[in-house]
Formats: sequence, structure tokens, C-alpha cells
Amino acid sequence: MTLALNDPDLFRSRCLVGGTWADADSGATIAIHNPATGEQLGTIPKMGAAETRRAIDAASRAWPAWRALTAGARARVLRKWFDLIVEHQEDLALLMTSEQGKPLGEARGEVLYAASFVEWFAEEAKRIYGDVIPGHQPDKRIVVTKEPVGVCAAITPWNFPLAMITRKAGPALAAGCTMVLKPATQTPYSALALAVLAERAGVPAGVFSVLTGSATEIGGELTANPIVRKLTFTGSTEVGIKLAAQCAPTIKKLSLELGGNAPFIVFDDADLDAAVDGALASKYRNTGQTCVCANRLLVQDSVYDAFAEKLTAAVAKLKVGNGVDEGVTQGPLIDMRAVEKVEEHIADALAKGARVVTGGGRHALGRTFFEPTILADVTPQMKVAREETFGPVAPLFRFKDEAEAIRMANDTEFGLAAYFYSVGMNRVWRVSGALEYGIVGINTGIISTEVAPFGGMKSSGLGREGSKYGIEDYLEIKYLCMGGV
Ligand code: ADP
Repeated sequence: MTLALNDPDLFRSRCLVGGTWADADSGATIAIHNPATGEQLGTIPKMGAAETRRAIDAASRAWPAWRALTAGARARVLRKWFDLIVEHQEDLALLMTSEQGKPLGEARGEVLYAASFVEWFAEEAKRIYGDVIPGHQPDKRIVVTKEPVGVCAAITPWNFPLAMITRKAGPALAAGCTMVLKPATQTPYSALALAVLAERAGVPAGVFSVLTGSATEIGGELTANPIVRKLTFTGSTEVGIKLAAQCAPTIKKLSLELGGNAPFIVFDDADLDAAVDGALASKYRNTGQTCVCANRLLVQDSVYDAFAEKLTAAVAKLKVGNGVDEGVTQGPLIDMRAVEKVEEHIADALAKGARVVTGGGRHALGRTFFEPTILADVTPQMKVAREETFGPVAPLFRFKDEAEAIRMANDTEFGLAAYFYSVGMNRVWRVSGALEYGIVGINTGIISTEVAPFGGMKSSGLGREGSKYGIEDYLEIKYLCMGGV
């Protein structure tokens, strides 16, 4: 089928490899479908190791000239890229909803969110300062400079088809690195459209390549090739562990944004209506398919029933459907594997004593549509407590006091985002300090912005994306020791 794009040239069925739009060497392709309708959107090249080597070689050749530009010159190219992304917001949103399923409103929001990283890092490029350190001997002068890491590889997921790319490519290119990207196979067209706009903005050939195809072959080459100095990955902890191991022999730098198991704590002194709004936004955004989605709702005994009642009323207003249709707030899940995982988590919880408050099964619309679900009487022994459900299921746990809430919240290998609602100033400080999480939302369910550092502790990852810290992940520190002065 053909999408009604204002600029049909944004839809590409080829990959950008070292400045050339190419098919796979073998001619092999992969068919891409719209999860809401099942319609085939088109095909993409099924590339492998040979094409990846070519992209890496091109990135290596392009690096000296790109890093030699002034930060201001690189920033102007990135600024142009930002302008083009914003200008094509409607087309990019339609492409995204068609391949990923999220409601058009959320897709439009993501386009601007994705663009914001390019703008932010275009500005930050000019502020990569070094240091002058007082010498340790009378004849010594010590200077510290920051330099681009070099050729970077990026592997990105399907849940944010644009933003997960720009928050890697933005700082990398701003810092003077070059990048080879493998986007998720489910959402290639957003990534390829981004590459079209990068070319139009004047990003030189080889500085930003995008390859679609075999995850293991492309990923294998990206992680094994010694020319690649850094891997940046967003995805599951399971795949992150594999990639980190593959990067070990060549000691690549790593940025990893992995899984989460976000607690969302509602204390007895919370503004319950605000907590319901926050829970709704955090839990059901993108149909529960974000790594910072509330995964466990921990509610204090005395407000448990009232909160459950208010949340149920709010969830009843969610509208499930095709993301391009007016008023839809819940798109389909990405694929059948995702549906099966959600079903498995619900079945496990019910078998161990939980009960369904609302939803609980596949939606009447069929395909991968799922009913927004609330489970009550959930306990830490259930799968929903330990694993990331990545679907529209809100499990309600009960706790007695602050100490128990903190214990339950930290009782996980993950440490990405946590949320809590309380109006007590002392409690806010105490609980913020006690949570072992990289991001803490206090009286808010929405925490993502390009100006703040996003990233996790424990098994949730390494490094931070966005903010002034985000560019450091793409910089090496060099120290110059001048003697005999
Ligand atoms: P999710 O569970 O969100 O689908 P994954 O971790 O499976 O996340 O995938 C995230 C990204 O990692 C995707 O681009 C996928 O193609 C890629 N990927 C998955 N397995 C591998 C692998 N073994 N080697 C390299 N990349 C992989």
C-alpha cells in the first residue's frame, strides 16, 4: 500500500550505506507490515555483515573531515536537520503510526521530541570545554581536551522509532563522531526517512549510515569490527548483555539503555486525582510499551481501594483502535509475541491469587489489540512483579508503610525510572534518596525531556542520554603534559 505522504520521497525501501542508497548484496528483502491493519507497507533490504563492513569503512573515511570541522559548522548542519524534521512532522508521524501503531497524537509528539535532541546537541557541540590544570612541577603545564570517540555503532528499538535514534546520533554527530545505525526491523521507515533528511541537511556521505536486516549479522559485525570504537544500544537487558559480551574483546565504549521495572508508589498523603493522571500517562502511553512505563503500582493500604476505583474510571475512557483514527489513545501491541507475553503475565498473576478489575484479555478488534487492564491483589511472587510486562497492564500491589514501599520498589535487578506521589516535603526527600533508580518522577508520570539525563542504574544500563551529560558518552578525554617550560 502507499501512504499518503506530502513528500513521498521520505519513504525509502533502500538503505543509506556510505552515502549510497543500496539494496542488500543478495537482493534479499524483508516485508514490513502495519500492526493495526496487517497491510504490507513495503519491503526493506535484508543486509548482513558485508554491507555493514562497507558502512563502517565509509564512516571511518568520513571521520577526519567531519571531526575537523568547527563545532559551529557541525552545529549548523544539525540545526538544518532539526528544522527539516520539524517541517516534516506530519509525514514522519504518519510513517511512525503506520509501522509502529502508536496513536497519531503520540507520534506527532515523538517527532518533536526526537527533533529536540538534534537541536539540543547542536547547541551543546559548541560547549565541549576542556580544562587547564595547575601543574604538579614548576616546569609542567597540564591541559585537558575532549575529542570525539570515533566511529560509533547504534542499535535501536521499535517503541520510539525516531527519538531513540536522535538521542544517539545527535550527540555523536555533534561531538564529531560518525555513526552506523541498525534500527529495529519492525520500524525501519522512520529511520530511513531520518536518513533522507540528514542527507538533505548536508550531513556528509558516510557520517550517518542506516542498515536494515539481520540483527545478528549486522550486530555481529558492528560489535566485532575493531574500527568501531563505541556501541550505543537501547533495547532489552537480555540483548544488551549479549552485545556487551561481543564488544568485550575489542574494549568498545558502551552506552546501554536497557529494561526497567518501574515502581509507581502512591502514598496515603498523595493527591489521588493527580496520581491517577500520572499513572494513566506513565502506564498506558504507547500501550505500555516504554522502558519507563510504570510496571508495578504500589499503593498504600488506606488509599488502595479509592485509588483503584479512580484508576478504573479513568481507564474506562481509554479508546483502543487504529492509531490514525480520531480519538484513539491505545494502539495495537507491536506483534503477537508481545501479546503472548502480556497474556502469560496475567495468567500467572491470576493463578497466584490476583483478580482482574478491568480488561484482562485480547481486544474485540482482534490482531494485537489488547484491553487496557488493571489487576488487584498482586504480590511480589508474581511475574508482573519481576519482569517488564511491556503492555497495558496495571498491577496494583498493597503496602503498609514507607519502609515497606521502598523495600518493594528496590527489590528488582532494574533501576531505570521510579515514580511516587506524596505532598510531604520530608517524605519526598527521604524517598527520593532511597530509591535506587536513575530517574525519579515525583508527583509526575512524565519524565522524558532532552534537557535532563536519561539512564539507569543496576541492570538497566550504562551512561546517560540527553542533557549536558549526554555528549560526554561520545567524547574521549586527552591530557597533554608539557614539560621543560
Ligand atoms: P525489544 O525486546 O524491545 O524488541 P530487543 O533487545 O530484542 O528489544 O531489540 C532491540 C534491538 O536490538 C533491535 O534493533 C533488534 O533488532 C536488535 N537485536 C536483537 N537481537 C540482537 C542480537 N543478537 N544482536 C544484535 N542486535 C540485536
